Amino acid sequence: MFADVIVDINNAEVDKIFEYSFSDCQISIGSRVVVPFGRKNIEGIVIGVKNDSEYPPEKIKPILKLIEQTPALTEESVKLMNYVCKTCYVTRAAALRLFLPSEMRKGKVKEQFVRYVELNCNDIQSTINSLRKTAVKQKELLEYLNEKGKSSFTMLSEKFGASAVNSIVTKNLAKISNEKKLRSPYKKLSDERKHVVLTPKQAFAVNSVINTEKTTSLIFGVTGSGKTEVYLDLIEKTICKGKTAIMLVPEIALTPQMLKQLRSRFGDDAAILHSGLSAGERFDEWWRLRNGQARIAIGARSAIFAPVENLGLVIIDEEHDGSYTSESAPRYSTIDVAEYRTKLNDAKLVLGSATPSVESFLKAEQGEYNFIELPDRINKKPLPTVEIADMRKEIRRGNNTPFSSILKAELTECLDEGNQAIIFLNQRGYSKTVICTECGHVQKCQSCDVSLTYHKEDESLLCHYCGAKYKMISACTECGSPFIRYGGTGTEKVVSELQKLYPQAKILRMDRDTTQNKEGHFGILDKFSKREADILVGTQMIAKGHDFPHVTLVGILDADMSLHFSDYRSGERTFQLLTQVAGRSGRAESAGKVVLQTYSPDNSVLRYAINYDYLNFFKQEISIRKATAFPPFTDVVRVLISSEIDEKALETTKFVYDELTLIYNLNRNKFRFFGCMKAPLKRLQNKFRYQVLMRVTANDRKLLDEIFAGADKYKSRLVTISMEVNSNNLT
Ligand code: ADP
Ligand code: ZN
Ligand code: ZN
Repeated sequence: MFADVIVDINNAEVDKIFEYSFSDCQISIGSRVVVPFGRKNIEGIVIGVKNDSEYPPEKIKPILKLIEQTPALTEESVKLMNYVCKTCYVTRAAALRLFLPSEMRKGKVKEQFVRYVELNCNDIQSTINSLRKTAVKQKELLEYLNEKGKSSFTMLSEKFGASAVNSIVTKNLAKISNEKKLRSPYKKLSDERKHVVLTPKQAFAVNSVINTEKTTSLIFGVTGSGKTEVYLDLIEKTICKGKTAIMLVPEIALTPQMLKQLRSRFGDDAAILHSGLSAGERFDEWWRLRNGQARIAIGARSAIFAPVENLGLVIIDEEHDGSYTSESAPRYSTIDVAEYRTKLNDAKLVLGSATPSVESFLKAEQGEYNFIELPDRINKKPLPTVEIADMRKEIRRGNNTPFSSILKAELTECLDEGNQAIIFLNQRGYSKTVICTECGHVQKCQSCDVSLTYHKEDESLLCHYCGAKYKMISACTECGSPFIRYGGTGTEKVVSELQKLYPQAKILRMDRDTTQNKEGHFGILDKFSKREADILVGTQMIAKGHDFPHVTLVGILDADMSLHFSDYRSGERTFQLLTQVAGRSGRAESAGKVVLQTYSPDNSVLRYAINYDYLNFFKQEISIRKATAFPPFTDVVRVLISSEIDEKALETTKFVYDELTLIYNLNRNKFRFFGCMKAPLKRLQNKFRYQVLMRVTANDRKLLDEIFAGADKYKSRLVTISMEVNSNNLT
């Protein structure tokens, strides 16, 4: 027999399927194997098996080893991999990585077994009597086992000595068994099941998803309208039919909370997949899904590749969220993959949001998606009221703190009443930039064309693009002047300024720096929800989903931050972010308030956001997109050319541009824009970057393939070429 094998090497130039022979009948599609490759033996995955080969037999080498009996990939995963590889323009090896936990590929983590010792004799008393008088330890050990039952070998050896344990085993008085130990994440997390009776609207939503002929349903429901209960009910109905489900949330930070709800309802049937778990935990959770021991996968975007079979349902909560589009290769869109996967399985896809993406809402409007609305909050509480603070006036009044006078007044009142507040600022660190007041020099990263952010906690300067860390300077590196100015406020500074204003208040900070470990998110959220702190300061991590009943005030420090990016999505992102952050306030008994600080109080997006007016926001946004020919009416395509050698990058860019110009000239009617330029981020991680930017007719796969093929042939050892379609981040 012959197998088509993809080898796991990280080389863009090797994207081939290699053939090997085998006789082991356990090898099948999806099996992980070891094969000879060049002078080395490396790991690969079988993606096809066949009886004949076109190559002469002496050219084909045999598979050396089958790594584990259960094929790691299902046949469906192999199909999905081909789909990702074709639609995201990446190599098969790169696509493959989405399907296997990295620790498995590197072979670093193995299944863990625990050795247990168990009695193997009936009449314990006569057995003990039959032992020599001096065998005290053995006697004690037998008595212990008789009383306590099966116990771990390690523990018994520590208590009674390894020789005693080994003797009773050799004498056959006890036997040893190996049992697989599951490393289960978030053991503490489980909850009493909340029994709710669905409201008529929720019940309607559930039935509508089940009964519609359409694959995809969009649930448009304000925060607190009970979407989560709808999801849980749908999952229950799915697994009752013997099928499996995947539940996606936008942030790793939100998985524990969702896991808690799933566990309280479905117990060990739920498994969590995300990068914050320890390698062992991830490995075990992954295999529980692969073996069918767990039927519900929960995680952030990559969990869409969960190895479940017989898929019945995929739920994407907060479907508009930017994190569902991967920002590094393979740049897949989670919704696209989910649509492909649910169609393949004749399953249902549910997208939920209070602020659907413009793309999804348009599809619902046009009838491609089944549209379901949940317009009311369960507790009938009104949404919090929003007040705008005009920061231009504050500055004119000489207020140069990050807080407007309205926010300070509200904060004081909130704390006086013993309530909690959330302060939102989408900038971590202490200050965004460090500038010399003498010569104006801005500290920059040595490998990127990016200014460095000052992190006071460890007195460092960090590059937020490549992660490089430098020591904070005491004098300007250009002119030696000790006079340094901090530009742009970050969360660290907000905390220290707040602490000055409210010395008694307990303040927590949640951003990427304080949540490095997996308990990080959980620990901070847990403390805050137990009211161990009065104020939570955070980046967009705190914007999503969390439910804090005692929060009555939300302050948004810089509502404009994302508004003025030159990205066509900036209006949409701002609307979504503001609505979500505002939704954190007044979730329970007390009415909520939001103070939104801005330098452009008349901006229409902000106006729609403070009135929770999604429909009018959508109308405006979609007409702008149509008039300016941006997605969903076109696809934005970028071919990015990068190299450590600037001349090489530039030279290749010219070749690529000329090649693509040919395509452009033949397809003028399909192009709305075609241009070549430096990338906005001119240098990243020591690589110089150029781009050919295009806007073309939407969903024209043939044209996209042509563009990719035209560009891809110029890649080389020195020059990387990649293609992105509708990327979230065109830096
Ligand atoms: P969403 O996901 O839309 O923000 P949730 O599902 O979290 O809303 O619901 C908000 C709150 O209302 C939660 O505390 C939830 O337990 C409660 N809830 C949801 N549905 C019901 C119901 N049918 N009866 C009573 N309480 C409900
Ligand atoms: Zn200077
Ligand atoms: Zn850098």
